[in-house]
Amino acid sequence: MYARYARKRPVSERRHADAAAYLPSGITRSVLDFAPFPFAVEAAWGCRLRDVDGHEYLDYLGDYSVGLAGHNPEAVREAVESVLDSGWSFGAVAPEEAEVARRLCERYESMDLVRFTSSGTEANLAAVSLAGKWSGHSTVLAFDGGYHGGFLSFSRDGSSLNVPFDAVVCDYNNLESVRSAFRAHHGRFACVLIEPMLGSGGRIPGDPAFLRGVRELCDVFGVPLVFDEVQTSRTAVGGAQSVLGIRPDLTTLGKYIGGGFGFGAVGGRNDIMRLLSRTNEPHFDHSGTFNNNRFSMAAAAAMLNRVLTAESLDELHQRGERLRKQAGELLCGQGFQATGWGSLISIHPVDGEVRCAADLAGADRRRVQFLFHELLERGVYIGKSGFVTLSLAQDEQTDESFLNALEGALQAAAE
Ligand code: PLP
Repeated sequence: MYARYARKRPVSERRHADAAAYLPSGITRSVLDFAPFPFAVEAAWGCRLRDVDGHEYLDYLGDYSVGLAGHNPEAVREAVESVLDSGWSFGAVAPEEAEVARRLCERYESMDLVRFTSSGTEANLAAVSLAGKWSGHSTVLAFDGGYHGGFLSFSRDGSSLNVPFDAVVCDYNNLESVRSAFRAHHGRFACVLIEPMLGSGGRIPGDPAFLRGVRELCDVFGVPLVFDEVQTSRTAVGGAQSVLGIRPDLTTLGKYIGGGFGFGAVGGRNDIMRLLSRTNEPHFDHSGTFNNNRFSMAAAAAMLNRVLTAESLDELHQRGERLRKQAGELLCGQGFQATGWGSLISIHPVDGEVRCAADLAGADRRRVQFLFHELLERGVYIGKSGFVTLSLAQDEQTDESFLNALEGALQAAAE
């Protein structure tokens, strides 16, 4: 499988070998590191990619959900062209930032005020810092399999990566585990940090009753609830919280809202957010050179005004629900299954129910690697760990091609 892949991609292989002299593992995003070497892209348009060896792929990775609008969408292109004409990096207020903030606060009932960052990781770090300043505590209650950024991922066995604060890690979809953590560590928590669906942890949706229970516990113990909606915000105009009917105290956003440019935001309750106000006492400063990066701000304004309509998000969501069901029918009986929510899907090499990270612990990931390579062979690109993320550039015809490729890949896996 690796030899066949490498034989067809000599230019990518050479580029990767050259890059490895200066970049650890020859790449600069761990998630893109797969064996024998990742292919290099030369061009992208709509829902297609072409690599430097001339192969075309249907893009069903969607850059881990950044690519919601597809490649080079007209609205973002026009916004970027206007920035090219009028300048960027002012070291001063950008024309679009207040508009982007207003749009977000209009969409998210739970957001009174919002602050921008350069990435989802930073948005979560800002949320945890704000909650810490507000509460006077420093420990975060997080969840096994929770991924909140390159420096913010949690696991039950203590192998959390580089978390720069104390954390108590509970089991996802297990309210009892949260209840006992609150009892055992009463008075220590700065916040509860949770994704409405474990995203990078396997696209495992939170039970509405579990998420409501977490909200209630936060109310009882007076601890701010932070919803990381960096991935799930695409489920509806007001994010997953509007679908669930749960109002978090802080929400973090990122990814696709910046139309492919670095973007992050934290927003929420006035009394917490105003700690960032110069005139508030106490207050704390949070500067970031790229917080109001003009390309991100202009692209986000275009996304919010022209692309992320209620209709487009609903259509994407419904197509995702259909595709997950159709893919699930192919996967079922082959030792695989598809989990997810709307346009965010993940393929797992397990039969049993998947409700938390531990349910995936014994999975043979090599089986997903095999599927990933067999899909590449058939011209379809998904995430190396089985992530499938839909974009507005795809349609039912490309979904049909995806399903045909998946069927072929599964047959190859069974041989
Ligand atoms: N939060 C969630 C739920 C994510 O999925 C990610 C990225 O995958 C992040 C935060 C981090 O965002 P970024 O990669 O922009 O730092």
